[in-house]
Amino acid sequence: MRMPALFVGHGSPMNAIEDNDFTRGWRELAARLPKPKAILCVSAHWETRGVFVCNAPQPQTIHDFYGFPQALFDVRYPAPGDPALAQRIVDLVKSAKVSPTQEWGLDHGTWSVLNIMYPQADVPTLQLSIDTSRPGAFHYALGNELAALRDEGVLILGSGDIVHNLRLLNFRDPRPTDWAVHFDETVRARIADGRVEDLLDWHALGREADLSVPTPEHYLPLLYVLGARRDGDVASFHNVGYFGTVSMTSVLLS
Ligand code: ZN
Repeated sequence: MRMPALFVGHGSPMNAIEDNDFTRGWRELAARLPKPKAILCVSAHWETRGVFVCNAPQPQTIHDFYGFPQALFDVRYPAPGDPALAQRIVDLVKSAKVSPTQEWGLDHGTWSVLNIMYPQADVPTLQLSIDTSRPGAFHYALGNELAALRDEGVLILGSGDIVHNLRLLNFRDPRPTDWAVHFDETVRARIADGRVEDLLDWHALGREADLSVPTPEHYLPLLYVLGARRDGDVASFHNVGYFGTVSMTSVLLS
């Protein structure tokens, strides 16, 4: 059975322990997916020079944030790793050298979402890092190579935010800003139409793109998922919503 590919807008780490419209949406998504044999997550929060895959047999839960309640630091997500799958990825990817490492684990881009989607933490999970020095086409091509894993029961999960501008976020008034909504709509329309070339060089989409993607790390996980698209996949959009200048949109290809 071919697994879907999924991009999730993860928003605040607090989603890991909250019950809100977005976390209910994640739970509903998990319920409609076939249960994966393993999850390969490309998280916005693992930026590297060069590409790495974590092959730890028991990945640590990384609390890569500050200023949140103790309850969030107390979360452990004890999913096992999958060293054999890490090696499969090292062998599979030809467009880049992928190096195995145990010097990572699961950062909050991964566990804040999976703590809701798969609270039993019983699906082997590993992360692939993002070399943010590389252009969009590089990440898209890498996703394309990873698509083969979908036929092996692996859920390819991108975790970021299509719109992510914390500098312009007004926490006291988190109503969605026009440019954020418009850029998110543009991205969804391009995906629905299959015109993703524009999305690989997002700066060409103009000022709204520059405001929505001031740094690439939250946007790039989307390109891995789009690269993993297969003929016959239909794109559907979930959790379309905003917290000011952060978009929570998820994209399911199945
Ligand atoms: Zn994030």
